[in-house]
Amino acid sequence: MKYTCWGAAKQVTGSMHLLQLDSGYTILIDCGIDYEDKTNKEINAQFPFDAREVDVLILTHAHIDHSGNIPNLVKHGFKGEIICTEPTAYLLEKLWIDSVNIQNNNSKRRKSVRLYGFKEVKDANEQLLTANFYERIELNEAVAFTLLEAGHIIGAASVRLEITENNETKIIGFTGDLGNPGSKLIVDAVPMKGLDVLVTETTYGNRHHKEKRTPEEVLIERVTKTCVNQEGRLIIPAFSVGRTQAILFTLKKLFNEGKLPPIRVFADSPLALASNNIHNRFSDYLNEETRNDKRDTEGSLFDFKSLYLVEDDDDVEDMEMYRDACIIVSSAGMLEGGRIQHHISDHIQNPLCTILIAGFCSPGTLGAQLLEGQSQIRIKGKDKYVYATVMQTDVFSAHPDTQGLQDYFAASDSDTLQQIFFVHGEDHAMHDLKELLPAPLQQKVTIPSRGEGFEL
Ligand SMILES: [Zn+2]
Repeated sequence: MKYTCWGAAKQVTGSMHLLQLDSGYTILIDCGIDYEDKTNKEINAQFPFDAREVDVLILTHAHIDHSGNIPNLVKHGFKGEIICTEPTAYLLEKLWIDSVNIQNNNSKRRKSVRLYGFKEVKDANEQLLTANFYERIELNEAVAFTLLEAGHIIGAASVRLEITENNETKIIGFTGDLGNPGSKLIVDAVPMKGLDVLVTETTYGNRHHKEKRTPEEVLIERVTKTCVNQEGRLIIPAFSVGRTQAILFTLKKLFNEGKLPPIRVFADSPLALASNNIHNRFSDYLNEETRNDKRDTEGSLFDFKSLYLVEDDDDVEDMEMYRDACIIVSSAGMLEGGRIQHHISDHIQNPLCTILIAGFCSPGTLGAQLLEGQSQIRIKGKDKYVYATVMQTDVFSAHPDTQGLQDYFAASDSDTLQQIFFVHGEDHAMHDLKELLPAPLQQKVTIPSRGEGFEL
């Protein structure tokens, strides 16, 4: 069989991995949108293979850089099943509709081409088939797979494939995105055993998570300084799926335990509210702390007295009229689009405001510009000075750091492991990580370029 890395090669977005068996049977793992390769305008619009020849798509998780181009694959003639966990399937519909709305807005402003519309989203939804973790599924006589918990976001899976060719069975594992061990809400990743080939994410290949405190300690300190002592506002940009829920859940605990005074919290992202509901519905997929909370409170995981969900225009007006100290959790995480832009634009010149960036920001994004300490930014067509305090925390990170990855490899290593492919990371981070591995593992590592194919 042949493995070709068609996305997230030496970068973190656009995950797409093709496995072509000698029999012609073709499996695609993930089909995400590439946000980074600006040299190729057609990168997302066209596929480098015939979509009609893909027999099945196995999806690791709902994040748009893994799932966002699936309706376009369907538009190009893919007729097979799209297999993922149930929470992923529920998240997908919301994320794809959001993606269509963003594409429509961007194409009006000629910022990018429209990849697909609501019809293709509907068609893709009809091809979804859900699978449970640890359930071994036989696709045909030669191919079976099992989804294992990846610990990244709700429903996120690693894919362990068993492929038999010429009377020999090979085990090939795709990690998808892994989680940071001990994350809020999410269970820890389960390493795949007995692999011949491992295709692994390396997002934080050369970084150490710096924060040694708990999420509770970080939020107590920041909310106390900004909202209690300064009576200012704390703005937390956060991705709608995963990060927002981890922050709201932590704040709920702190308010309910009386560790913070009841400061108003605005959750301002329609997609995040839909994602809250999916977390509540599929709380069985979350970690023990979260399941116990759900059982003990018999309520929503994210409801607390001072939480204000911003759902319609009236809510937006209420929020904009609110002048007291408050916390605003809004998307998108790298500050590149979405409702967060309004909050940043309105408060970047407010010295009583703190912007707490709760994750990684790709180079060139507005979030990265703020973290570099720029004294002036351009937002919503205007130049503005930065008088707000800008801070970053990695305590809510949804990926393992370099040590976490090395621990994962050690747990997956076995006598059978012959090849490791590094994907979903920046080139230099991958090389740094490779250098850190023990020699026997290091020799097995390949860092593929986009389109590079390998006989397995
Ligand atoms: Zn992800």
